[in-house]
Parts: sequence; structure tokens; C-alpha cells
Amino acid sequence: MFELNEEQNLIQKSIHQFAKKELAPRASHWDASEEFPWESVKKMAEVGLTGLRLPKVYGGAEADLVTAGIAIEEVARFDHNCAVILCGSNITGRVLLFASEKIKSTFLPEIAKGRYILAFGAAEPDAGSDLRAMKAVAKLQEDAWIVNGEKAMVTFARVAHGFIILVRTEIEEREGISCLFVESDRPGIDIQRLQGFGWRATSWGNVAFNEVRVPIENLIGEKGNALFMLKETVQEQRALTGLIALGTARQALEEAVNYAKIRRVFGKPLGKFEGIQFRLAEDHTSLEAARLLCYQALSLIEKKTEDASVWAAMANLIGGETAYRVVNNAMDVYGGLGYSRELPFERHLRDVKAMQIANATLKIEIGKGLFGKEFLPCA
Ligand SMILES: Cc1cc2nc3c(=O)[nH]c(=O)nc-3n(C[C@H](O)[C@H](O)[C@H](O)COP(=O)(O)OP(=O)(O)OC[C@H]3O[C@@H](n4cnc5c(N)ncnc54)[C@H](O)[C@@H]3O)c2cc1C
Repeated sequence: MFELNEEQNLIQKSIHQFAKKELAPRASHWDASEEFPWESVKKMAEVGLTGLRLPKVYGGAEADLVTAGIAIEEVARFDHNCAVILCGSNITGRVLLFASEKIKSTFLPEIAKGRYILAFGAAEPDAGSDLRAMKAVAKLQEDAWIVNGEKAMVTFARVAHGFIILVRTEIEEREGISCLFVESDRPGIDIQRLQGFGWRATSWGNVAFNEVRVPIENLIGEKGNALFMLKETVQEQRALTGLIALGTARQALEEAVNYAKIRRVFGKPLGKFEGIQFRLAEDHTSLEAARLLCYQALSLIEKKTEDASVWAAMANLIGGETAYRVVNNAMDVYGGLGYSRELPFERHLRDVKAMQIANATLKIEIGKGLFGKEFLPCA
């Protein structure tokens, strides 16, 4: 069964200290100002976090998935948005490993240094859970792809230096989806701001592509094979995102326990009342169970086991659900003050809510493991 080794324990401690000292003090500022936290990204890059999962040859640390999970979870305790950025640079960055050597050697070292932000555009206004309904298209015209279409709800859209987008390269219904790398300064790209409930420092937006000319060599992987190629990327992203939510919730729970020890009501500390103790004990239990599930998922994804996709979906599902409940209860422990913007719980609640959106695709994946592919409600 899953257990952290000595080295991973040390990494956990050092990233905990780093994030608490360097990231926590500015977390609420980035959320309130909705600015992209470049200053924090620089700090994360200095300690090697932005290149954690990238190969050493491109300036990364080549860390295994569990180690990446530990790092991302610790960062999420102190700045949820920074953890989302780390997940993005390390996971989306790895998609470029399927690209040409020229693209890899030009952009991966920049991503590892935290100087290049890559966004991932899959969803569209009419294709979210049902990705195969996407309409964005790339047509080959002599030596270039001509891209037309819109990508919706793209994290980092407004600061990204480049986009990895999914586009249709075949006319056949629901098939023929390919992956393209598009630099954001290409003519014909229009980016619109989207204001989020949480994830406010992630420069969310919609990106329209109008006759955008992209070099033929910017195709990533084989034409028409994107969804298969990105299978593991999706698994990694799901399990790590579960841990981002849980990292934030873990911090909230620890703070609530400490507060319950000092806040006095009816002549004694709040924590002496079983109504509070039992609720926090249940939260602690479900939080630890969910964390273990996420780490187990990461370890199975690393081993490329057949059931890894089901574990990744379970990790994401339980991560989001548990985190939301735990943060909500932590907020309650603080009473009226918990609801105020003086404390971070309303920010935490808005941030972890993102992981509860669009759970249907996770349940479909888990259902596939339980019932078999022939029972899939949506092919
Ligand atoms: C904070 C945030 C960041 C995001 N960042 C990105 C990004 O960087 N790149 C990107 O491509 N996308 C991004 N997205 C978009 C995300 O991928 C979509 O929201 C998601 O795929 C769901 O699509 P949708 O919003 O169109 O919802 P829909 O597909 O319209 O679904 C609406 C609701 O119906 C439910 N549902 C769907 N199908 C079924 C079913 N068969 N049975 C029952 N219920 C169902 C869904 O769970 C959802 O609750 C982001 C979204 C959020 C909230």
C-alpha cells in the first residue's frame, strides 16, 4: 500500500515551509486583485517547482508523480491559485513532450523556469463534458494549419504565451481530434476575460481563433489521435487536481481545529463540545481517506495500470466533494467571522468549488470500471 518514503517526507516538509513563508502572505492579494501571481511564480521557479515533472534535459527535475502530488498539495495549502499554476506548468508542459524536438527544446526550458505559461484549450461553448462535439477546426493549407473556432473557460488564457488546443482535423462526426501548439502572438487570436467565482488569479478567459495560421510542425503527436495521446495527461491532471482541493481543505481544517481550542463559548473552549469535535473528527477522517486515494491513484498512473483511469476519476471526485465539505465546516467553526473576508475561508470555498464542476464525466469513467464499456451512457 501507499506510503511516503524518507526523501518524500523531507520534500513535503521543505515545500511546506517554502509555501508558508513565500506564498501564503500574498495569496489573498492575488485573489482580491485578480492579478496573475508572477511574483509567486518566480519564487516557485527558483526552487524548481515549475519544472518538477519536466525532463532534466529541458531544465526540469524529472520528479515522479507522487512527489509532484506532495509538492502541489503543500503549495495548495497556502495558495490555491499557485497550485493550479504548478499543475498547469507541469502537466500541460508535458504534453509538449509529444511535439517536435525544436518545440521541446525552445519552450520546455522556459516553462521550467516559470517564464512561459502554457494554457490548454479543450472545452468550447457547445462542447464541455461532451468533448467530441467540438467544432474548432484546423485545415491544412499548403505548409500551415488554418485554425478557426472558440475555446471556452481556458485557465491562464489572458497571460498564456502559448496554447495547446484540441481541434478537429477530420470531417467525420465526433472523431479526428488533433492537438496543436499555437503561440499566443499569432494574428487572429482574440481573448476575452471571464470572471470566475474562484481561481481568480488564474487569468481565466475564452479564446477565439479566426483564420489563425499555424506551422505544420506545430501538430503535437499524430493527426486525429489526440484523445488517445492525452489519456495519461488527463489521469495525472485529475488526480493532482483532487490533491489541490484537499491541500486547501487540509489547511482550513487545521486552522479550524486550532481555533476551536481557543474560542470560548458557554464558558469553555468550542472544541470541548462533542458537536464540534465529532464533525471535525469526521472531516479529518474523510480528508485523510481522500488523500490516500489520490496518492494511490498517482502511484497507479505512474505504473500505467489498467484501472488507473478509474482511480484518477475517483481521486478527482472524492477530492472535490470532500474538500468542499471540509472547508464549509471549517468556515462554520469560525462563526460570523468565518464568513467575513478578513479570513480566508470564503476564498477557499470559492476555490475548491471549481473541483465540483462537471463531475458527470468522472462518474461516467468510474461507471465504466464498474459496469463495463458496453454500459456507457454516452459513447
Ligand atoms: C475553474 C475552471 C477552469 C477551467 N479550465 C479549463 C481549461 O483550462 N481548459 C478547458 O478546456 N476547459 C476548462 N474548463 C472547462 C471545463 O472543462 C468544463 O467546464 C467541463 O468540461 C464541463 O463542461 P461544461 O461547463 O460545458 O458543462 P456541460 O458539459 O454543459 O455540463 C453541464 C452540467 O451537466 C452535467 N452533465 C454533463 N453530462 C452529463 C450526463 N451525461 N449526465 C448527467 N449530468 C451530466 C455536468 O457534470 C455539469 O454539471 C474550466 C472550468 C472551470 C470551472
